[in-house]
Order: sequence, then C-alpha cells, then structure tokens
Amino acid sequence: MIRVLTVASEIFPLIKTGGLGDVVGALPRALGAAGASTTTIVPGYPAVLDQLPDAVAVHHFTDLFGGPADVLRCTAASLDLLVVDAPHLYARAGNPYLGADGLEWPDNGIRFAGLGAAAAAVGTGSVPGLAFDIVHAHDWQAAMAVVYLRFHDGARPGTVVTVHNLAFQGRYPASLFPRLGLPDSAFSLNGMEYHGDVNFLKGGLSYADRITTVSPTYAREITGVENGMGLDGLLRYRAGVLSGIMNGIDDTVWNPATDPLIPARYARARLGKRAANKAVLQRRMGLDESPNALLVGVVSRLTSQKGLDMLLDRLDDLAADGIQLVLLGSGEPELEQAFVSAAEWHLGAVGCVIGYDEALAHLIQAGSDALLAPSRFEPCGLTQLYALRYGSIPVVSRVGGLADSVIDANEAALAAGVATGIQFWPATPEALGDALHRLLSLWRDRPAWEQMQRNAMAADVSWRGPASRYVALYRSLLADRS
Ligand code: ADP
Repeated sequence: MIRVLTVASEIFPLIKTGGLGDVVGALPRALGAAGASTTTIVPGYPAVLDQLPDAVAVHHFTDLFGGPADVLRCTAASLDLLVVDAPHLYARAGNPYLGADGLEWPDNGIRFAGLGAAAAAVGTGSVPGLAFDIVHAHDWQAAMAVVYLRFHDGARPGTVVTVHNLAFQGRYPASLFPRLGLPDSAFSLNGMEYHGDVNFLKGGLSYADRITTVSPTYAREITGVENGMGLDGLLRYRAGVLSGIMNGIDDTVWNPATDPLIPARYARARLGKRAANKAVLQRRMGLDESPNALLVGVVSRLTSQKGLDMLLDRLDDLAADGIQLVLLGSGEPELEQAFVSAAEWHLGAVGCVIGYDEALAHLIQAGSDALLAPSRFEPCGLTQLYALRYGSIPVVSRVGGLADSVIDANEAALAAGVATGIQFWPATPEALGDALHRLLSLWRDRPAWEQMQRNAMAADVSWRGPASRYVALYRSLLADRS
C-alpha cells in the first residue's frame, strides 16, 4: 500500500462548501481499493471538532502562527483523520473561509499557512508511527504544505497538488511573507512570488513533484492564456508533470435504482418507469403535463461561468419548438430575476426554483429528458455525470470535463451506437440553439433516443477509474524519486 497524507480545507461529510469537499471525502475509499491508504489532515473548525469521537492528541505545537495547537487523530465517517486543533486559527462559527459579513477572514493567509505547516510536519514524521510516501494537497488552501516540504531539511515524501479551481489562488501582500517562516528564496519568480505578492497556489504549483487537475481537457486549457488565470506560463513550463484526472461521483448517493429522493426508482433495463418522475417534475414546476414534450433540466450556480445567460437568449425559440425547461439554481441576482420572469412569461413551458434544494436536484436528474450545462469553462462538472447515470441526455459545451465525459451524437457515434449526449461549440447562443434543435430531432427518433439513454447509463462515472489513475500517478512519482 502507498501511504498518502491528503491535505484539504474541507471533507464531506464533516465540512463541505462545494465539490472539493465531495472529492476529498470520496477518494479515500476508492484509493483504498486501488492500492493507496489515505490519512486526511484538515483544519479543526468547530463543525469538525463537534463530530469527532475519541480524538487523541498525537502532536503538539507550542506556537503554530500565533498560538498553541494540537494535531488530533481519529476515525470519523470511515475516514482516517488528523485534525489541526488551533483555536486561534479555526475556532470561528460558520463558513470555513468567510466571516459573517461574507468577506474572507482577514487572516486566511496565516490560517492556511498553519494547515500547510502542520501537514508538512506530520508528512515528515513528527507523529510517531505515522509515515507517508506522498503528501497530496488540494487547492490553494493546502498548497503551502508543498512549499514547506520543499524547504524541509532532510528526507521528504513525494508531493502532488490538485487544482479544483484555478480562479482561487490565495494571493496576499508581500508583507505576509516574513511571517511564513520560509527562506528568502521562496519569494522569487520560481517560487511563490507573483507580481510582487505572495501566491500560495503558485508556490504549490512551482514546487510540487506532480500537478493534477480534474479533467484532461481542463489540464490542457489552463496552459493557455485564456484559461490560465495568470498562471498559464508556469503551467506551460511544468506541462511535463501536469495531468488531468476526472472526478467520479458517489454512485451510492446517485443511483436511480435506490435513490430515496425520487418518486419512481428505475434502472437501465426498466427505463419506462422514468415517465412517472417526469410527470411529478412537470407538476411540481407548473409545466403542462405532456409526456411527449421534450423536457430539459438545469441544476446550477447562476454565474457567468455557467453560461445560462445564453439560454435566456434562446428561450422564445425553445418555447416555439414546444421544448420545456426546468431550472434549479441560485447565484447572481440579475440571472435569478431573469429566470423568474421567463417562467412567468412562458407559463407552462418554463419552470424555475431559485435556491438550493438537494431533493429537487435529484428529481430533475430523474425526471428530465435532457440536462443542459452550457459552461464557458468547467474544470470537471458534476451535473452532467449525474445526468449520464440517470439517463437524462447531457447537452454540454465542449470545454473541460464536459468535453471529456460526453460522447457527442454525431453521425459516426450514432452509427456505432455509442453516443451519450450532445456537445456544442463555441459557447454562443446560436450554437446552443443549434444543439437544442439537434436534441429535438433525436427526441423524435425514439429508438435512437432510448439507445442513447442506455449508453449514458452504462458509462462508468464511478471513482474506480479515477482512483486507479491517482495510484498510477503516485507509483510513477515514487519510481522517479527512488
Ligand atoms: P460547481 O462546483 O462549479 O458549482 P459542479 O457541476 O462541479 O459545479 O457541481 C455542482 C454541484 O452542486 C452538483 O452536485 C449540483 O447538483 C449541485 N447544485 C448546484 N446548484 C444547486 C442547487 N441550486 N440546488 C441543489 N444542488 C445544486
């Protein structure tokens, strides 16, 4: 077994604000089956400390950036955890990153340097009986672990940084640097200096033995100016150690055959049962209860990244074609308002719920005929993976993980019987409209449609493949270092 210390700022089910928490929570079990054991080190937020049974202190810092700290060890939710109990850094109610005013905690730099320093200490053997081959850091909040390991005297484990969202980098004024306890050389062009500031993610990307991101296409895209968020030059320089590994989904939570959140459960061989979910969804969203209307669903944050303004642009055309739309989302107020107005304008054809609703998200996957994700960029994307699993045909822009997970229903794919959805490009209202017209003509060819549904549901979107890719990456890294 390869021994991995995973460093992360959230882990499902203990603390989660987004997809990062899901990934960090789901990977250990899948990695275990593929040949790597995982211990995960996370900050001791109150929400985490409240859920720890029988935690034992295994290491003490007399001063971890301004106060004493303990590293606690325990098992919770079948996860082997190390928790950095540092009240001066983490004993704050609410969101892990933001204060009650919705702004970042002013000392986030120090808070996550603390996580990194604690992880580096544990990774280099500070806890008797705990040794690691690999330290795997997720996103900027964990990236400092790699920086501290780079400047550690003596042997260190191999290091991996995974980027879930390049838009967030942990950038702070240069005045933070002297407090980080690093040699001056770390604050350089080849290290964590970025336009005169300190940049945590850049430090991790500069010093990691391997860099991964959450889809192969996104791994390529971020080496370009358009999607590189200012770090494309560095990522091009490090392209030899950069790769993309798709996320999986938790196929026990997202399984139409057992899902307790949907009215009618079904499987690939019993697709007829989906119709009952469609009827419930239409009723719930105030749509005409027509089994023959093509029903397109959206479950999304409403931000410009997700491209839903392009959908607004096409709504009149869709309604004229008899296509129905249901949308569940929340985000930018103008987009929220525009969809509410659209639902009033297209009564019976467009339904929308503004807010966050886990059960409705499941019903949309189980009851819609197609699931739309027209993102302008998308590191991995999860909703299209759930859609595949639920037999809702994904219609996606050809970017990032969307491009990597959907087989477009072009002539060749249809002839070979392998299509699972529709891709379009560029991300424009016109191309989106064309894609929905293609979808409508497929809908009218019911045998072809059902074949596509069966293909979609047969696609492997579990963690098994990704986990074995991570283990292969760890093995190659360790081979390079031996
Ligand atoms: P991102 O992480 O960029 O928001 P992803 O597609 O990777 O996009 O993940 C989004 C996750 O959040 C999915 O699990 C999706 O079902 C869920 N989600 C997004 N918006 C809502 C909502 N309004 N209600 C319920 N679930 C939502």
